[in-house]
Amino acid sequence: MTYFTDFNISEQVKRAIQEMGFEEPSPIQEKAIPAILTGGDVIGQAQTGTGKTAAFGIPVVDKVTEAQHIQALILTPTRELAIQVSGELQKLSAYKRIRILPIYGGQSIGHQLKALRQGVQIVVGTPGRMLDHLRRGTLHLDKVHTVVLDEADEMLDMGFVDDIESILKEVNDVRQTLLFSATMPPLIRKLSRKYMVKPTTVTINKGEVTAPLIHQLYYKVLERNKIDSLCRIIDSDDVELGILFCRTKKGVAELTEALQARGYLVDGLHGDLTQSQRDVVMKRFREASIEFLIATDVAARGIDVENVSHVINYDIPQDPESYVHRIGRTGRAGRKGVALTLVTPREMKHLRAIEKEIKMTIPSQEVPTIEEVVE
Ligand code: ADP
Ligand code: MG
Repeated sequence: MTYFTDFNISEQVKRAIQEMGFEEPSPIQEKAIPAILTGGDVIGQAQTGTGKTAAFGIPVVDKVTEAQHIQALILTPTRELAIQVSGELQKLSAYKRIRILPIYGGQSIGHQLKALRQGVQIVVGTPGRMLDHLRRGTLHLDKVHTVVLDEADEMLDMGFVDDIESILKEVNDVRQTLLFSATMPPLIRKLSRKYMVKPTTVTINKGEVTAPLIHQLYYKVLERNKIDSLCRIIDSDDVELGILFCRTKKGVAELTEALQARGYLVDGLHGDLTQSQRDVVMKRFREASIEFLIATDVAARGIDVENVSHVINYDIPQDPESYVHRIGRTGRAGRKGVALTLVTPREMKHLRAIEKEIKMTIPSQEVPTIEEVVE
């Protein structure tokens, strides 16, 4: 058993961790933190919700000094994640005098320039906006000693690979490179071979994490009764806050409309929303003024909202890795979560592929009858 106090990190950081309410390191933290503290390159793989941010955040915050230049660069796939990661690092550095700046598109460059001029030690941002700054000459990365690629699989999925490479080429070769990801597709291996030096890989087996925290079930449903079945499932369960996944934007719009018409408090999130529309929906979700957020995989990227009690796959994902990503939105930080999947007879093959990926059998349950819902 390892405690945070066992790590070779400063008292300031230990105190901050304690105040954040983290009692003991999560499995990925237990393995990754000592590896990162040796100074070498590290690849960390563990499912969403397992504490990867602090796994790199603790050693990075520990290493950064108060010297007035950018020392660490963290790349994340979305602006929400940039803000979230920056917030977590801020908490970890509560007792250090360092500044952390999130940099992302959609925010005025002017504000970011002003903050940069005030002296920043860690920047966290999306590859696109980071590259913008580099090209304008407003970001000086010559003294960066640590680079983190966070949620690397999602960044690659979103087509950031060229941007990432352009950024990595700007940073000092003598550096520590850390890469964290929920999954390890071949493109990540390729990227790590090119830009990392003899990385140590730490992996947390999916089965180890999924099983105890997330209660998974599937329901056999018929295409034509899908909405009714969904309503019965929702009505018979105790949902605090949930995410409903659809395959397409059109599906999100249709399901949102159908559920709203039946009086459910839901909102849809899809790629066509403007940033401010997206912010409004996310705010309502965060404040739990809606019961369900309905989203596509792409729209739900990077969402980390505490208290998500249910993830419901209204449409089963066609690739097993997105199942892992989706259900990782619940069961955060040791809380129990429920992941339910609706499966039509034609979709059983997708379910089997998922079971193979997560190395476990997902139990099935009957859709509740009307009587069961009413009682
Ligand atoms: P990941 O990047 O693996 O998806 P996060 O870093 O976002 O996961 O962490 C998920 C949640 O768990 C966050 O709310 C975080 O504050 C919390 N958390 C991280 N480490 C610990 C810990 N050791 N103890 C308790 N909660 C933790
Ligand atoms: Mg993360």
